[in-house]
Amino acid sequence: MPVINSLAALEPEMREWRRWLHRNPELQFDLPKTSGFVADKLRSFGVDEVHEGIAETGIVAIIEGQGDGPTIGLRADMDALPIHETSGVAHSSETDGKMHACGHDGHTTMLLGAAKHLAETRNFAGRVALIFQPAEEGGGGGDVMVREGIMDRFGIGQVFGIHNVPGVAEGVIQTNPGALLAAVDEFNFTIRGVGGHGAMPHETKDPVVAAVGLATALQTVVSRNHKATDDLVLSVTQIHAGTANNVIPGEAKLSGTVRTFAAEVRDMAEARIRAIGAGIAATYDVEVDLFYDRGYPATINDPDKAGFAVDVAREVVGADKVEPDTTRQMGAEDFSYMLEARPGAYVFLGIGEGAPLHHPDYDYNDAVSPVGASFFVKLVETAQPLR
Ligand SMILES: [Zn+2]
Ligand SMILES: [Zn+2]
Repeated sequence: MPVINSLAALEPEMREWRRWLHRNPELQFDLPKTSGFVADKLRSFGVDEVHEGIAETGIVAIIEGQGDGPTIGLRADMDALPIHETSGVAHSSETDGKMHACGHDGHTTMLLGAAKHLAETRNFAGRVALIFQPAEEGGGGGDVMVREGIMDRFGIGQVFGIHNVPGVAEGVIQTNPGALLAAVDEFNFTIRGVGGHGAMPHETKDPVVAAVGLATALQTVVSRNHKATDDLVLSVTQIHAGTANNVIPGEAKLSGTVRTFAAEVRDMAEARIRAIGAGIAATYDVEVDLFYDRGYPATINDPDKAGFAVDVAREVVGADKVEPDTTRQMGAEDFSYMLEARPGAYVFLGIGEGAPLHHPDYDYNDAVSPVGASFFVKLVETAQPLR
């Protein structure tokens, strides 16, 4: 069972939707045109319910199947990035400084294509909840939708999502039965000492030396505190202090990023970073303040749901184009909050060669829209077959 015929036939129309979305990028939660476009399309397909205004501009639409059954959730993100587009394509962004550089225009299109097919055919039991979320690129729109109660309100039992990947062959579907993307946390230290003359350090409390000591000590979290078989990245990425060569400054700032998969490793890293900061304060006789910012959690697939997604993917694209045990990546994704709320799986869909995600030359490949839409439809029809 390859790509669904009617969805292959819908490709030109999906291409038009996608290119309209690409020309009209919007950021974060502020997606009036995008969510208006999506809601209009959903209504024109005859879906049963369109619930707007969730997480400001998010939408949940319901399609009733035939007979009783559970509710499966399918999710797409709708937001763009604050990037000046340089792709040169005819459908380039019409808003300077904003562009769909992560292909969320494509994700939205795939889910709309699936919605049209599902609303027309209703070849499934129970219901489908189509989740269109804002603010994936910072802002945690997925988190907000979960906290606003969509899982209970719509009785969603399991959730699935797709992210396109440039540089992976067109139509290849990748996933794995566990952690797929990392948790991303940030640490921001402010070190306050006493500034003074560079020739008289004994009259100061030097925050520069303390910052250097801190940067070095933080390396021991990875090298000495964590088990080598667990994944952990800790990078000090900024140190700022001083204005002149003969002045010891009063303050230094140091910050960086922490990437983990396991909750215990994430907790351990934060605890060690806090302890090291306190130790540096005592050692160098300075004040150390830490703002530790927990970002998106790790994106962790349910093993059974990932296996199910692999089976469905094999039906849609063929077994040779499915990678069921792909390497996990240190990037992050706020579908993670939906996977914390309900079992489910996230998959990557290759779009062929092209500029990478978040690059100003990036453009989504419209040829894969029928593949993504067919995958969504087959998830529903396979999970909730007609009796
Ligand atoms: Zn992105
Ligand atoms: Zn993205």
